[in-house]
Parts: sequence; structure tokens; C-alpha cells
Amino acid sequence: MFDLDGKRIWVAGHLGMVGSALVRRLERDGHTPLTTSRTEVDLMRQAEVEGWVAANRPQVVIIAAATVGGIAANSSKPVDFLSNNLQIGTNIMTACAAVPVEKLLYLGSSCIYPRLAPQPMREDALLTGPLEPTNQWYAIAKIAGIMLAQAYRQQHGLDMISAMPTNLYGPGDNYDLESSHVIPALIRKAVDARDSAAETMTVWGTGTPLREFMHVDDLADALVFLLRNYSEHDHINVGTGQELTIAEVAQTICDVVGFKGKLVFDTSRPDGSPRKLMDSARLLGLGWKPRIGLREGLETAYQAYLAGQRRR
Ligand code: GDP
Repeated sequence: MFDLDGKRIWVAGHLGMVGSALVRRLERDGHTPLTTSRTEVDLMRQAEVEGWVAANRPQVVIIAAATVGGIAANSSKPVDFLSNNLQIGTNIMTACAAVPVEKLLYLGSSCIYPRLAPQPMREDALLTGPLEPTNQWYAIAKIAGIMLAQAYRQQHGLDMISAMPTNLYGPGDNYDLESSHVIPALIRKAVDARDSAAETMTVWGTGTPLREFMHVDDLADALVFLLRNYSEHDHINVGTGQELTIAEVAQTICDVVGFKGKLVFDTSRPDGSPRKLMDSARLLGLGWKPRIGLREGLETAYQAYLAGQRRR
């Protein structure tokens, strides 16, 4: 078991949904993680990252920084999704290898797997077929990051691991209707529809794609568990096994928010992958399991959205 106690832990990307959940989780265990603001260190500038890492000498690093977004953002900003994420991963890993750090955790996503990978998707489905076009840019950057972590392990013997979370939601999410993922978008749409007494609410696509969701606090818990207990060359899936259709997610969100109107499906918008269910048997076999059910998680995400609205 890798001991985190007393270590200098750097959470790169601490302002994002995943990074902020990690900071909360680490603080609960009595750690005070290192963080960097964008004005202090631009993670897309190699020299700035190297300078900060050399000066602060983190011992444990989690790369939660990334350019992220939903189905529309991914396909409309391919350069941002490919180039930014390649640079963030490479800059941080290269700087950390020079120190060197004792442990580094790189974060990817379930979209690294082929569009039509056998379901549930096992870790060994990676690079067995073509990617889903709507998020291929992000996927390629994340696959390169996984490979770079493996390369550092192989060539320099560094303990770099990679975790692939399923679709995430929770406090700190992005609620912008064009660039967000499905859950925050639908929470916002349901609140607006309820408050304006609308009769309908629009859901993108056919409503038939299947997705698995995880609350970000469960992910943060899994990542801290992996830092302590996982030290393998292969990446590892982090999912809940809870899968439902987009129509079912939309209906559950309407129930949580209290919108009683009808759902309308806008099929001019893309569905993306037909199904994205992770096989998380490897992680479960290590003894970790998720705690937050979807209904309960959606309640907290909705409350966090309302709190964010009040702060504006
Ligand atoms: P994906 O998992 O990479 O496809 O990313 P998203 O979370 O953006 O989308 C998941 C699914 O939800 C896709 O089938 C979308 O078409 C569908 N969806 C339905 N309504 C919305 C919405 O308002 N915003 C987004 N982002 N997706 C939506």
C-alpha cells in the first residue's frame, strides 16, 4: 500500500469539478493539497510547469486538469480538445518525471474506448476499433496520456497510473447549455422549464443512448483509493454499473426538479455513442465500491446548481 500521509500532493486542475472534489476528499483525510492557479502556472506552457514542479517538488500528483465538455463542445472545438489535453498531460508528466515524483495519477474518460466496443467495456477494449467521431479529439489526447504514463513506467520505472472514469456529474459542473454534459444541461433546462411553466422540455437526440453515471464525490473517493492501492501498467475503469437511457435520466431529473411537463426529443442533435457502460470489475475486485445512488446524487447536484444560482 502506498502511504499518502505527510506527502506533498499536487491536484492539477483543482478548480474543475473533479479537482475540487479531490481537494475536498483529501482535506477530509487531513491533507492540504498543493494547487496552482492559471495565472501562477499555465499548464499548457512547458517551462512554467517545469519551473513550478522543480520549485515545489510534489511527491504525489493527480492530473485532473483538462479541457472538457459535452457532445457539442467536443465536436465544435477539436483543436482545444486535442491540443490542450495533449499538452497538459505531456507537460505535467514530463516535469514530474524530472523531479521525480513518487506517484502520479492520470485521468482519462470512457470515451477512449471504440464506439462499438463490446459492453460492458473492459480495459483491454482500448485500441480495438474506431472511436466515436463526436469525441475522438478528446479521446486521442487521453489515449496518448495513458500511453505516456505507461512509457514512463516502462522506460524510467516511475509509478504512473491511469484511471478512466465513466460519465460524471455533481457540484462544480458546467451548466452552460451548449458546452455542458447531459446531466447539468438537463438540470438547468428542467429548472427553467418549471419556473417558466413551460409545457415541454427539449432533450437532444433520440433519448435511447445508454449511459452510466457517477457522482464526482464517489470518483474522488475511488481515486484516493487507487493512489493507495493500485500500481499497475494498465489503466483502470472507474464506474458504477448503473446504466440508464437518456430518456430515463431526463425523466428522473424532471422528478427531482419538479417539472411535470413533457419531454421533446430533438433528433437534429447527435446521440453520440449508442452505449457506454464500463466494466469496473478490476476496481471492485480491489475492494472499492461506489456509495452514491443516482437519485440521491441528482438531488445533491440540483441543490449545488441552486446554490450556484444564488451566488450569482
Ligand atoms: P457523451 O456521453 O460524450 O455523448 O456526452 P454528453 O453528456 O454531452 O451527452 C450524452 C447524451 O445525452 C447524448 O446522447 C446527448 O445527445 C444526450 N443529451 C440529451 N440532452 C442533452 C443536452 O441538453 N446536453 C447534452 N450535452 N447532451 C444531451
